[in-house]
Amino acid sequence: METLTIPVINPITNELLYSISEKSDQAIDEIYEKAHAAEQTIQKLTIAERIAHVVNLKEWILDNSDLIIDKLIEETGKSRFDAFTSEIFSVCDVVDYYKGHSKKILKEEKAHTPIMMLGKKSRIVYEPLGTILVITPWNYPFVQGFVPSILAFIAGNAVIIKPSELTPLKGLWEKMLEETKFLVNAFQFVYGGRETGAKLISKRPDKIHFTGSVKAGKIIMGEAAKQLIPVDLELGGKDPAIVFDDVNISRTVNGVMWGAFTTSGQSCTSIERLYVQDTIYDEFVKELVDKTKKLRTSNEHRDTQQPDECDVGAITSPAQIKIIEEHLDDAVAKGATILCGGITERGSHHMLPTVVVDVTHDMLLGYEETFGPVVAVMKFKTEQEAIDLANDSNYGLSASVWSKDMKRAERVAKAIKTGNVSVNNHMLTEANAALPFGGIKDSGIGRYKGDHGLHTFSNSKSILYDAQGSIIDPHWYPFTATKYKMLSEITQAYFRKSKNWLKFAKNGLKADSIGKKEQIK
Ligand code: ADP
Repeated sequence: METLTIPVINPITNELLYSISEKSDQAIDEIYEKAHAAEQTIQKLTIAERIAHVVNLKEWILDNSDLIIDKLIEETGKSRFDAFTSEIFSVCDVVDYYKGHSKKILKEEKAHTPIMMLGKKSRIVYEPLGTILVITPWNYPFVQGFVPSILAFIAGNAVIIKPSELTPLKGLWEKMLEETKFLVNAFQFVYGGRETGAKLISKRPDKIHFTGSVKAGKIIMGEAAKQLIPVDLELGGKDPAIVFDDVNISRTVNGVMWGAFTTSGQSCTSIERLYVQDTIYDEFVKELVDKTKKLRTSNEHRDTQQPDECDVGAITSPAQIKIIEEHLDDAVAKGATILCGGITERGSHHMLPTVVVDVTHDMLLGYEETFGPVVAVMKFKTEQEAIDLANDSNYGLSASVWSKDMKRAERVAKAIKTGNVSVNNHMLTEANAALPFGGIKDSGIGRYKGDHGLHTFSNSKSILYDAQGSIIDPHWYPFTATKYKMLSEITQAYFRKSKNWLKFAKNGLKADSIGKKEQIK
């Protein structure tokens, strides 16, 4: 029996699209039974065969991009351009990267064997974990559902995906799997809310890949800890962008504006804190405000689908609207000034892109994730001050540094405590599938993409091969005085890197001969 109906709403029009329900215990059991059965089939496939399935998905995505984008707009309210670049383009790019690199990433590796283990061989093999549970958020429902799932699958796992109840994309996923004849039950999309998510965790998946809020991430990690389920947590951010006074102001304003307002700022790597050097501060802020006012928003298209020309879409989650408003109210109450945008209609999904100045780190806008089309602008004088301000945060997901002086940009990029930095651009690390992505501090645990993208869904197993024969190792029984003396001499010679190799070699030979003689018969 399914309980509690959850409505899925179009944020642009506020119309009810359809409803989903929390899953029963029995339904969850059946899902795991199917996943475990699918594991067997997937593990028998070669990597090339798994890749072929994933490439079919990519072809389908290219053939059906308009359909996917329409569905994304309907459920998230994002602009058509945002839906295209961050969800369609990026998933195709990830597929292409892993098409070319998976075999190498998952290949058995030879590892170094120390001289003390002469004659033995060391290997690392990457084996599937089993069933991976992917729990996704509402802001990038297609890419966040798709990318971790195909990576887990290429690594040989079955995948259970619990999409966000706000943007489940129900119907779309099923159409994709059916029309590509994707391996049965390799991916299972399970619709529901937190209750369903919690039930799925309770059945002990072999790993959880979670993207979402810090609050939910902490609860999920707590639940996972009870059964020692490994987790990757991709959580929130409060991205700083540092702008030095040698930049091309026009280009940088355009870049920063995109970094702050893309997907209406509902990206964990969008710019939330903008630090501008005092010498260009006034000019920079003026241009930022002038240009921000020219952005075309979902506000103008409330009763239609977003046209191609809409820059900034709607706010997807009603709960997020409240948070954004709370941050703005708090900032204004504490002395900040809104230069454009702001709350024009309380509770509305359509918020104008907003530039706020005179912000401090004592305001919610200065330290909590706002996750809306709002950029908090602050001033700095010196390089060290900019670094200190950027690092004064509980988050550490991504950041950007803008300067013509590449030496300085590199220095600052390395000094920021975060998982990703882009120089003279923003959130571009995330767009390169070859780079590991993830955060530090409250921004999460673990990395995916790059080699990590497959290793995180693998059991990295170490195997050490020794030969059969009559000789035993000197550290085996029986423990004798001769062996003890000889081992202690070898240890001294070896670890002090003594030049007395002759003695070392002699001891080595002695060890062999003792290994033959001194055995328990
Ligand atoms: P948001 O809705 O702001 O993205 P969440 O981080 O709460 O925030 O939700 C992200 C995903 O995590 C959603 O799919 C949601 O259903 C799921 N989720 C939230 N809380 C839990 C929980 N306690 N257990 C399992 N899944 C959860």
